Amino acid sequence: MIYSRNSITDIWGEQHPYFGEWSARVDQAMDVEPDHWVQSACVLCSNGCGLDIGVRDGRIVGVRGRAEDRVNRGRLGPKGLYGWMANNSKDRLTKPLIRKEGTLTEASWEEAMDIIVARSKKIMAEHTGLGIGFYTSGQLFLEEYYTLGIIGKAGIGTPHMDGNTRLCTATSAAALKESFGTDGQPGSYTDLDTTETILHCGHNIASQQTVLWSRILDRLAGPNPPKLIVIDPRRTFTAEKATVHLAPRVGTNVPVMNGLLNLVIQSGSIHRDFISQHTVGYDDLVKLVSKWTPEKVEQATGVPAHQLKQAADLLAQTKTLVSTVLQGFYQSMQATAASVQVNNLHLIRGLIGRDGCGIYQMNGQPTAQNTRECGADGDLPGFRNWSNQEHIAELAKIWNVEMDKIPHWSPPTHAMQIWRYAEQGSIKLLWISGTNPAVSLPELARVRKILDKEGLLVIVQDAFMTETCRHADIVLPAAIWGEKTGCFTNVDRTVHLSHKAVDPPGDARSDLDIFMEYAHRMDFRDKDGNPLIKWKDAEGAFEAWKQCSKGRPCDYSGMSYAKLSQGSGIQWPCNDQHPDGAKHLYTDGIFNTSVEYCETYGHDLDTGAVATEEEYKAHDPRGKAFIKACDYLPPHELPDEMYPFILTTGRLVFHFHTRTKTGRSKELNDAAPDAFLQMSEEDAANLGVVEGDMVEVESRRGKVIEPVRIGGIEPGLVFIPFHYGYWDDPGRSRAANELTLTEWDAVSKQPHFKYSAVKVRKAAQGLFGKIEHAIEDVVGTIKSKL
Ligand code: SF4
Repeated sequence: MIYSRNSITDIWGEQHPYFGEWSARVDQAMDVEPDHWVQSACVLCSNGCGLDIGVRDGRIVGVRGRAEDRVNRGRLGPKGLYGWMANNSKDRLTKPLIRKEGTLTEASWEEAMDIIVARSKKIMAEHTGLGIGFYTSGQLFLEEYYTLGIIGKAGIGTPHMDGNTRLCTATSAAALKESFGTDGQPGSYTDLDTTETILHCGHNIASQQTVLWSRILDRLAGPNPPKLIVIDPRRTFTAEKATVHLAPRVGTNVPVMNGLLNLVIQSGSIHRDFISQHTVGYDDLVKLVSKWTPEKVEQATGVPAHQLKQAADLLAQTKTLVSTVLQGFYQSMQATAASVQVNNLHLIRGLIGRDGCGIYQMNGQPTAQNTRECGADGDLPGFRNWSNQEHIAELAKIWNVEMDKIPHWSPPTHAMQIWRYAEQGSIKLLWISGTNPAVSLPELARVRKILDKEGLLVIVQDAFMTETCRHADIVLPAAIWGEKTGCFTNVDRTVHLSHKAVDPPGDARSDLDIFMEYAHRMDFRDKDGNPLIKWKDAEGAFEAWKQCSKGRPCDYSGMSYAKLSQGSGIQWPCNDQHPDGAKHLYTDGIFNTSVEYCETYGHDLDTGAVATEEEYKAHDPRGKAFIKACDYLPPHELPDEMYPFILTTGRLVFHFHTRTKTGRSKELNDAAPDAFLQMSEEDAANLGVVEGDMVEVESRRGKVIEPVRIGGIEPGLVFIPFHYGYWDDPGRSRAANELTLTEWDAVSKQPHFKYSAVKVRKAAQGLFGKIEHAIEDVVGTIKSKL
């Protein structure tokens, strides 16, 4: 292997202290010298680092960072440097598979598509489009999502479309919409170059966006380093560098944020002019948070009052602020309510829409932004509002279909409800693309049962035989990154074009080709009788998307494949007004909240109740941002005598999602080959376990067996990384989601992965151990019923 550094042992690489600007550092890793390079970007997290793919003899042999790219200036993290190896894996799917007499058997595309099309037509005739559901990904390309969105919404007419983005970024979208009227991240990564203070909320950025963390490390190493505030129950890599680390009990983010807001307001450092000219709802916030004194916050969350004050002082004094929010907030109790409080903090201090002031309601997955923008999930393309008739009419005009064809009679179906409909039998065909719900959804025993349900046709489109494929009726082999062309947008709105570098293996096809073929065979037509899908390739889809996005916040109309091939990625909006993209949104303090333009009429943060158009019109904020307050609600499951620990789940630096790709890179897999249970020294001593002992972890929904890893976590809390499933057969139950619960946020509908009550004990060994555990279980059950 030829590489610029061993990024397994040196995750973030050599630091380049800041002196005015972030300098370039080109990272690379390759098997052999390539014969040519192809422009692309990394799709293994939402950072979207620009890179080139090295090709030799028609095969991917390595990657190198692009020094001119605005996102990473040449840097790559461990996943970016080694993830490409999955493309060359020997166990790629190369032929369609059809289940025949219980066994998945190789078939032709002709056969597979014939079954899919015949079944789709039958279901539509007998049950309308409501019998069909799509569950897609945060890893396909923009052109694929847009095509899928039109097929579902204007071809089939189903509201049952969502993605695994519901698990990672639904709250990002929801929090942005609730505060600013539409989705869209207000800031720019360049804010990190100048900001005085950085606030990370439930975001272990050092592990999840390693290159963005390198940017922060370089700031910390230079003159005028920023102050760092981290809110996370675990002592993560990120928390170790914090000026102040607040470690609240899991599920108590709202009281922490309310306490911080209260102190900032009391300090008098609020921006009164900004509040009065550009926001609504401030008085309600003041009233609500005033009861969250530091002492009360300490009682509810476990965060010492003096630490809360220390953090609040920094937030009150800083002249610039960058905040990032991720799964510690999104996958926990009151996800949207907590994330909205971060927006409130920026609004009451007027720290938005200018250099050094950014809010990142982060995305988990690399192309999650596009799932949302293009309408492949519950959202409508271009951040249009499903309950605004004019927005529907606009889409119908662009697609040249009748308005009534586009489902808009009720809120779109979110993923958790799609799975419920499949369980109940009203969804009869579930088409899963680029994701692995048999490992990533909560309560896996239930998910497996749904996938195996009689009468449900399960189609899975993937590059590998995932845990989900094993339950499919039809498996379609998909091309992945490097084997197809398309765009994706990172979390600071930077759009990259990834060119095809090599052919996919065997008969594998791009997701775009598969969707276009389906649309053609289904004979979807517009109202003039012309094909509904009017393009034949990725660039054609992109040109159509430009038209659909024009005039909306995510305006791509000024971009082209040629422009995106010239070096760096480009931020949206890119149009006549911003031909080279725009660094910040809301620079004039005008937000996307006017009744004609907004993406949602909003929700009650407690209950998720949807506001109507009439209600919204009665208080039209006309471009002012919403300051929405919310009080604390405790988590739905708390520790008790039977299940005394709280389990939280999350990611590791070396893996992405369910390891489908990163588990097939030798370097990454060797660095983190197995799941584990992390627990505190005190708890380990009480249970009589030492590092590496196998423990049984059991919740009300399932059981796993994991080796124990000790330290770096508070007593009473345990952690399991969620990446690990069964495709590489560990010989035991180990997926964290065997234990998690089916609950979700009232507004964003994002599942709650961050808290489940569990019991932990040393794994039973031999017959005696098993009898001992059986007796303990019986005694425990009797006790719990007394
Ligand atoms: S930070 Fe994210 S996008 Fe950049 S190289 Fe790492 S995994 Fe890829």
